[in-house]
Amino acid sequence: MITAQPATGVIDDLRLMAALNYAARGWKIFPVHNPVLSASRPASCSCGKENCNSIGKHPRTKNGFQDATTDAEIIREWWERWPGANVAIPTGKVNGIIVLDEDLKHGGDQSLQEQIEKHGDLPFTIRAITGGGGSHTFFKHPGEAVPNSVGEDGWLKLAGLDIRGDGGYVCASPSQHASGRRYAWDDGQAPDEVELAPLPAWIMNRLRARLAPKPALTDQSPDQKGRYWLGQALAKAAPGSRNNVCLWMACQLRDNGVREDDAERIAREYAARVPQGSAPFTDHEAVSTVQSAYKTRARGPASRPPHGIRAHHTPLQPDQAEDQAYIIEDPAPLRLAEHYIDATARTNTGEITLRRYRQSFWRFSAGAYRQVSDETEDAGIYQHLDKLSTPKRNKEGSPTGDTVPLTVKAAVVREVRLALPSSGLLVDSSMPMPHWLDGRKSPNAADIVAFRNGLLDTSDYTQTGKTSLMPATPAWFKLRALSIRFRPSRRVSIVVGDG
Ligand SMILES: [Zn+2]
Repeated sequence: MITAQPATGVIDDLRLMAALNYAARGWKIFPVHNPVLSASRPASCSCGKENCNSIGKHPRTKNGFQDATTDAEIIREWWERWPGANVAIPTGKVNGIIVLDEDLKHGGDQSLQEQIEKHGDLPFTIRAITGGGGSHTFFKHPGEAVPNSVGEDGWLKLAGLDIRGDGGYVCASPSQHASGRRYAWDDGQAPDEVELAPLPAWIMNRLRARLAPKPALTDQSPDQKGRYWLGQALAKAAPGSRNNVCLWMACQLRDNGVREDDAERIAREYAARVPQGSAPFTDHEAVSTVQSAYKTRARGPASRPPHGIRAHHTPLQPDQAEDQAYIIEDPAPLRLAEHYIDATARTNTGEITLRRYRQSFWRFSAGAYRQVSDETEDAGIYQHLDKLSTPKRNKEGSPTGDTVPLTVKAAVVREVRLALPSSGLLVDSSMPMPHWLDGRKSPNAADIVAFRNGLLDTSDYTQTGKTSLMPATPAWFKLRALSIRFRPSRRVSIVVGDG
């Protein structure tokens, strides 16, 4: 007799084997219910409930994903107790993974296609075809909080595309779906076959956009917004700063979503009401100022006064000294970039450990420079900027002595990243490698081999037998280091030159 499904015992073993395999690679897992299939009736759930609305997907254990473990003994017990149980993998910080869940029932295929057309293919990473015919694409957890997102109501805001993040979970191969199909790793994209890729930038951007504070004026009509900024501008303007203030107002209107023709109308009113000096401020000047502001893309709402009408900053009080490092007077991207480098990429002795080379960032670690993705730098920049504050100012632009947290938006993070190479970082892609970044002539960089415990000058070693190591230094630019320690007691034969 031929059966549509392999014998139950084999499948049960496969589930246990898969569960143990995931646990062996460090993923905590837990059992969930499984569908019960019948030729004569629609699939039901092993929980036995008539109208179970989560067939084969809800936890077998009391605390669900919180019970997840890598303990082989517990896992064996679970599958002895519930031999048919599906295997679930918690997503989020606990396993260091984020899953993009494409749900065909809700149009996930179309949403995903649109994103791919806009931003390019998803990176090559762990990926499964789900029992429902959609997909699970796995990414490396970025380190910051990643809440779940479900459909258009979630922070991803895309129909049929969910994010399984902190506190979520997914069923994994060879779990069975209510459709009867099994979850299966895509060709060449099983956990053992490919590394996790970082979250694509468009997903990171949506994740962070959800954190950006809502503009204070968001629920006001364009006209109310216009009146508000006009009032602010008129209060600030003086004969010598009419043009500056007009530009500042135009930028606020633009960044707060006021349409350009409305902004022009407001600017004309500004021109009529602004204090007149020896020469009038004309409609024409006001309107062309608006037009030039609207030529630049909106940067998101901000309310800082413009340069030139800012009062001098009073020195910080002594009791604020400790926080001083995190109060930044001028939050321009380049200043923020310099602050970020000082905080995250400088040794005690002042050497820079972050470099730009071949269009990529490289950070010094374990004796050599390692490539860092833009997404990783963005995450670092975000975390750093999130700690910064700027001096609070009153309407006249004078500091009040208080500080306000910096508003960190995805666009700001990006601007800071783009400013990093301008802050004295290595940008010369034609530079030879290995290379002394501090211009050292000797020892010759080409003769240096990096071991885990330091740098060995191989010419010295082969000529004089000198075995002392130089400390690993970020001044030595090399993209590879040996992962072994150098032990002088073990003779090493080193071939130098072309041989
Ligand atoms: Zn159920």
